Amino acid sequence: MTDLDKIRNFSIVAHIDHGKSTLADRLIQSTNTVAERDMKAQMLDSMDIERERGITIKANTVRIDYHAKDGETYVLNLIDTPGHVDFAYEVSRSMRAVEGSLLVVDSTQGVEAQTLANVYHAIEADHDLVPVFNKIDLPASDIDRVAEQVEDVIGIDASGAIAVSAKTGQGIEETLEAIVTQLPAPKGDVDAPLKAMLVDSWYDSYLGVIVLVRIIDGVLKKGEKVKFISNGTIHHVDRIGVFRPEMQPVDQLGPGEIGFLTASIKQVRDTRVGDTITHQRSEVEPLDGFQPAQPVVFCGLFPVDSSQFEDLRESIDKLALNDASFSFEMESSAALGFGFRCGFLGLLHLEVIRDRIEREFDIELITTAPSVIYHIHMKDGTKLDLHNPADMPDVTTVDHVAEPRIKATILVPDEYLGEVLKLCQDRRGIQEDLTYAGSRAMAVYDLPLNEVVFDFYDRLKSVTKGYASFDYQLTGYRQDNLVKMSVLVNEEPVDALSMMVHRDRAEARGRAMVEKLKDLIPRHMFKIPIQAAIGGKVIARETLSAMRKDVTAKCYGGDASRKRKLLDKQKAGKKKMRQFGKVDIPQEAFISALKMDD
Ligand code: GDP
Ligand code: MG
Repeated sequence: MTDLDKIRNFSIVAHIDHGKSTLADRLIQSTNTVAERDMKAQMLDSMDIERERGITIKANTVRIDYHAKDGETYVLNLIDTPGHVDFAYEVSRSMRAVEGSLLVVDSTQGVEAQTLANVYHAIEADHDLVPVFNKIDLPASDIDRVAEQVEDVIGIDASGAIAVSAKTGQGIEETLEAIVTQLPAPKGDVDAPLKAMLVDSWYDSYLGVIVLVRIIDGVLKKGEKVKFISNGTIHHVDRIGVFRPEMQPVDQLGPGEIGFLTASIKQVRDTRVGDTITHQRSEVEPLDGFQPAQPVVFCGLFPVDSSQFEDLRESIDKLALNDASFSFEMESSAALGFGFRCGFLGLLHLEVIRDRIEREFDIELITTAPSVIYHIHMKDGTKLDLHNPADMPDVTTVDHVAEPRIKATILVPDEYLGEVLKLCQDRRGIQEDLTYAGSRAMAVYDLPLNEVVFDFYDRLKSVTKGYASFDYQLTGYRQDNLVKMSVLVNEEPVDALSMMVHRDRAEARGRAMVEKLKDLIPRHMFKIPIQAAIGGKVIARETLSAMRKDVTAKCYGGDASRKRKLLDKQKAGKKKMRQFGKVDIPQEAFISALKMDD
C-alpha cells in the first residue's frame, strides 16, 4: 500500500489528435515504467481499431513511479479515458476515479469541441486542472493565442500552463513535477469498510473479466469475498494487481489506489461501470451517479449471405461478452431475411461493432438506417418506446410522437460558419448560442438526435473541409410532427426500408429513396410501381416500366450500358437477389437506398 500523500491520480483531457496518447507514452517512458526496448507507440491504445483510428474506446490505466525533485517517490496513476461522446458516461466515471486532469491543447490548433466537452466532465468531477500546451516543436505553435483561448472559452487560469513537445520530450519533466505539486493527493480512510468504484471492465480469454477499481476507503486483499452493490452478487477475488501497463500482481490495494481484480466472472454484463464494490458482509453507501448502460441508437444487422446467419449470431454473442452496453435481439425481415436488431451507445459505437463483425469474423453485413428511440404516446394514455420503425402502431391509435433532442456544440473557423449554420438549419436545428473566440466561432444548437444519426458528421466534415469539431449531449424528449414512412415495391411494403421522419422532410427522403430503387431494380415482365407512403397516402412515386418480351434486342439499344451493367451485376450476385412481392430486388438496391446521402 502507498501512503495517500504519495499518490496522484489523474487523467488527460484532450481533443482527438492533440497528443494525448503520445504524451502518455512519453510520461511512461521518461519514468522507465516500460523498458526502452518494449516501448511501442501508443502504449495505451490496445484494440486494433483504436490504433488505426487513433481513438481510445476503453479506459486504460497505467501506474508510474516518479522520483520527484523533493526527493520523494510518488505513485502516479493515469487513467486514459475515451474521448468520444458515445462513451460520455464511461468518461464521467473514469473522471470520478481521479482527482485531477492534464488539459492538453495542441498549440497549433487551439481549443476544440471535444476539449470543451471533456473539460466539462473534469470540472463536474471537481478536478484540479493543469493546462499543457503540446506540439511546441512545430513552427505553427502559438502558445499565447492558445492561453488566451483557454482563458476565454474555458474560463480557467492558463498562466501556469506547461509548454510541451510530446514528440521531442521537451517539458515532460515539468509536467511530471506539476502533477505532483499542483494536483491534490486522494483522500480516504484505511480503517473504514471497503468501498471501491468499478471504473471499467473487459473480457480476457485467460482470466475472465478484468475489473478496474479505484479504492475509496478500506483495503482490498486477494482471496477475499466482495459484493457488487447494484446487483448484490458475491465474487471470490482470485487476483489483484496494478497496470505498468502490463498486469503486475500485488497483495493488496489501499485507499487512493487504482488497480484491477479478477474473480472468475464470465461476462462483462455482470460488472457495471460506476457500481460500488465492498466486502461480502459490509454495508456502505453506494457511490452516486450510477447508471445502467442505455443504448440510444438502433439498427438492423443482416448477413449479405443468408447462410451466415449462425456465424453472425456467434460473433454477436462473442462481442456482447465484452460489451455490456451493446444490446441485440433476433429480427426477421421479409426483405433481408434473418438478422439482429442491435442497440448502441451512439454512431461510433455502431461503427466499431459493425467493423469488428466484418473484419474479425469475416461476415459481410447489410445495416439498416440507424434509428433512435421514439416515445409513442397512444390515445389510450399508454406510452411505448419504439426501437424499430417497422413496429410503429397504426397511426389512428397514436396521439403523438416525441423524439430525443441533443445539445450540439460546434467549433469552426469563421469562413465555414455559414455552411455549418445552414446544415444545422436543414437538420431542424434551433440555434441557442453563437460566440466567437479569435477567428473561430462556437455555435450551440438544439437538434433532433435522429437528424444527427443520418450522416450529419460526414456532412459537417465535408462542408468544413474537416476543420469543424463537434460534440453533443442528450437533453430530453420533445413532441414533433413525426411519421413513419414506408416504401412499397409492387404495392408491398419493404419492411427494412421503413423509417421515422419529420413530416416536412418526408417528401424529400421518400423521393430520394424511390429514385434510387428505380435505378437499381432490374425491369421485369410487368410494370412495377415504387412508392413512398405515409399511412395510406403516397408521397413519392416512380414506375419501372415493363420489359418488352418481343423486342429484347431493341430494348438493349436505348440504354444498353445501363442494362449491361445491371445484367453483369445480376450474374455476379444471383444469390444476392431477394424475391419481394414477385419482384427481384438486388441487395445492392437496399444497401444504396439505406445510405441516406440525400
Ligand atoms: P490523441 O488522439 O490525442 O491520442 O493524439 P496522438 O497522441 O495520437 O497524436 C496525434 C498526432 O500528433 C500523431 O501523429 C502524433 O505523432 C502527433 N504529435 C503528438 N504530439 C506531438 C508533438 O509534440 N509534436 C509533433 N510535431 N507532433 C505530435
Ligand atoms: Mg489517442
